[in-house]
Amino acid sequence: MSAAKDAPPPLPEPLGVAVADSHTHLDMQDGTVEQALEKAAAVGVTTVIQVGCDVKGSRWAAETAEAYAPVHAAVALHPNEAPRIVHGDPDGWSRQGARGPGGEGALDEALAEIERLAALPWVKGVGETGLDYYRTGPEGKAAQERSFRAHIEIAKRQGKALVIHDREAHADVLRILREEGAPERTVFHCYSGDAEMAELCAESGYFMSFAGNVTFKNAQPLRDALKVAPLELVLVETDAPFLTPAPYRGRPNAPYLIPVTVRAMAAVKGIGEDALAAAIADNTARAFDY
Ligand SMILES: [Zn+2]
Ligand SMILES: [Zn+2]
Repeated sequence: MSAAKDAPPPLPEPLGVAVADSHTHLDMQDGTVEQALEKAAAVGVTTVIQVGCDVKGSRWAAETAEAYAPVHAAVALHPNEAPRIVHGDPDGWSRQGARGPGGEGALDEALAEIERLAALPWVKGVGETGLDYYRTGPEGKAAQERSFRAHIEIAKRQGKALVIHDREAHADVLRILREEGAPERTVFHCYSGDAEMAELCAESGYFMSFAGNVTFKNAQPLRDALKVAPLELVLVETDAPFLTPAPYRGRPNAPYLIPVTVRAMAAVKGIGEDALAAAIADNTARAFDY
């Protein structure tokens, strides 16, 4: 790839109404937190939810939320991390590298630390948790499910939003939420279901957070889902550095690119950009209770 193709995309036109990026990973992006927040604020992205994927990343998310007013934290063991902990091989998104003792005891220990962090006032969410059948094979399924159920309990005990990562596991995620009883506020991050599932989520009052992939050419089922999702349950996110919206696919993503996705979503919804942004701002504050 040429240098230009790796370069950060230009700043989009600012939004008329400020919104939140409901799911980002600043710790995996280039530049400082200050730089990311400054660029985001310049285009009307004035709040970000920083999501931890392992113990180290969750500690960092909590510390960053404590230090920066525009940042709120979500803390968890990612569904692909939980099996690694049980199998004694956590490498983690923050690349801890250390081989742990493994076993369910190791998972319980990590979960106890997540719960301690979840109790902090600037931590507004428990997640991302859930199921990922794309990256984790059958051997990791039991650990993943055990971790997911534990995170649901933590979210309920601590009164925080539950942030769901669901990759190719829609039916099982919905079933486990039903079995455990979902927390009052549940967010499907990087929503990836179809229109039929969006109706099920709407019936249960689950928030659906759309990422840059809603702009992809082959994502018509996702746009059909967005069409039927009630306006009061729709959020937007970058999941940066991943899922850079079109036309910048393949280049580094960051919270300042939220306006690109909001504009594409407004077109799908057939409403004005400001009306959608106002709804998203309100919904995100309700979902994460800030
Ligand atoms: Zn995810
Ligand atoms: Zn994520």
